[in-house]
Amino acid sequence: MLGSMMRKELLISDLIVHAGKYHTDTEIVSRETSGELHMTNWGEVAEQSRKLASALDALGLEMGDRVATLAWNNHRHLKIWFAVSGAGKVCHTLNPRLAPQQFIFICNDASDKAIFFDKTFMPLITGTKDHLKTIEHFIFMGPRDEDVLAALPEAVFFDELVETGAEDYVWPQFAEDSPCSLCYTSGTTGNPKGVLYTNRSTMMHTFAISLPDALSLSASEVILPVVPMFHANAWGIPYAAAMTGAKLVMPGPMLDGDSLLGLIDGQKVTLALGVPTIWMMLIAAAKKSGSKMDSLKRNVIGGSAAAPSMIASFRDDFGCDTIHAWGMTETSPLGTANQPKGKHADLEADALALLREGQGRPPFGIDLRIVDDTGHVLRHDGKTEGALQVRGHWVVDTYFGKDATALTDDGWFDTGDVSTIDADGFMVIRDRTKDIIKSGGEWISSVDLEGIAVAHPGVAMAAAIGAVHPKWDERPIIIAVKAEGADPTEEEILALFDGKVAKWQVPDAVVFTDAIPLNATGKMLKNQLREAFGNTLIERGTVDA
Ligand code: AMP
Repeated sequence: MLGSMMRKELLISDLIVHAGKYHTDTEIVSRETSGELHMTNWGEVAEQSRKLASALDALGLEMGDRVATLAWNNHRHLKIWFAVSGAGKVCHTLNPRLAPQQFIFICNDASDKAIFFDKTFMPLITGTKDHLKTIEHFIFMGPRDEDVLAALPEAVFFDELVETGAEDYVWPQFAEDSPCSLCYTSGTTGNPKGVLYTNRSTMMHTFAISLPDALSLSASEVILPVVPMFHANAWGIPYAAAMTGAKLVMPGPMLDGDSLLGLIDGQKVTLALGVPTIWMMLIAAAKKSGSKMDSLKRNVIGGSAAAPSMIASFRDDFGCDTIHAWGMTETSPLGTANQPKGKHADLEADALALLREGQGRPPFGIDLRIVDDTGHVLRHDGKTEGALQVRGHWVVDTYFGKDATALTDDGWFDTGDVSTIDADGFMVIRDRTKDIIKSGGEWISSVDLEGIAVAHPGVAMAAAIGAVHPKWDERPIIIAVKAEGADPTEEEILALFDGKVAKWQVPDAVVFTDAIPLNATGKMLKNQLREAFGNTLIERGTVDA
């Protein structure tokens, strides 16, 4: 024998063992569903996760069984994650914002055996329970509650269940390719599909996102994952916080600007993560209160494109460095993060700001390419646009319950996004393939147009869509929601595009609406907007039908 190194499977239980042992007294703060703050630490989370794992075994749940959660980001949810995955079962995070029919479909498709739920979701549980064919255990996330028992006599209570578990429970050892968690895509068209993560893929992702050029996590950070644990595993933060020993602040159900601001200032949060809609509310709340969010050094924006004006506001008004990141449920989710390289140290402020507006570059473990309609691989020159494809250690191969691989013949996953990539690997999302506006055979990025429109202080939200046009097939129009108390005009908004895009890319119209429909993970539902506003130009008589 030439010699060897220890072989140990990469398991989720390793994370909680490490955090419990070496970061025992590091705080975990969480907002209860009832509103008050709850304080615990990694030591107690580790102990209760073990006891819960033992209690789940006693309920008869077995390796590989799916255990669902319908829950906010809070300390019980965190314990469930480690208990379920650590014990070789599959933690299936359900998105409570889905329509009941989709919720029922997903529970049945996954054959969930048990479900943990927060009090907020009692009506969804009692309303759908008769259709949930495989669930044997309904576990309420809280202490014993007579109201819950009255509505759901079979309910088991989390706090009581944990106490039945054995303190000397030992985490089982098994193959690292075993599944640990399951998350369904938000399914804006057709039924959602499940992505089944393995212990190994999750551990690799956890190492990668913690690195300095990704999210740069450490035991000195106080992290606020506003992104829900049911949205692509809160972008992996609960795992990475355990790996690095960071303090976690879990916002529970209160995701409004004032509540988040209270947590950031009160808990001295250094890093917060979420989708653009969350930050809009936070910036408004901070400006109103006069808070400068002094502790907040960095934030991560992903899920949808971060508007350049939002990144600039964090930088200039709050001294907060935005890491713009891109990913998908299918990529665990982190695919790229925007951190400059050494060679960018001397860039002029404007050029650096422009570089930081894109979605960034892949960490080790992720590979990107762009291809044309025929699958021909395109140049990484920062200009050529193509269909973005990805492969790597934490990218889906086959969706849950499907036989066929989701990959191309040569092993890449087609993201459905259109992007450019430059020679340094910096990727810029131009659009979703189905949302790009095709005007006279040329492509116009709806993301670019939206970024310009929301720079108007009187615009709270804006979507760019292709409206039907007899000559050009599609022409861009903006659907805008006015900011509270503001009254911007169509002309003012259109004037913003002057000099920022080519003349033929300037939108033909602005339509004001009360609200833009969002999907369950906060993305604008462009297909509904196209249905509602796609004929605007014809109806306005600007063009002949
Ligand atoms: P989901 O799996 O629901 O998180 O959706 C993934 C999709 O969200 C990606 O394919 C992109 O279209 C979009 N997305 C995620 N992050 C970004 C970003 N930073 N900029 C633009 N689009 C994004």
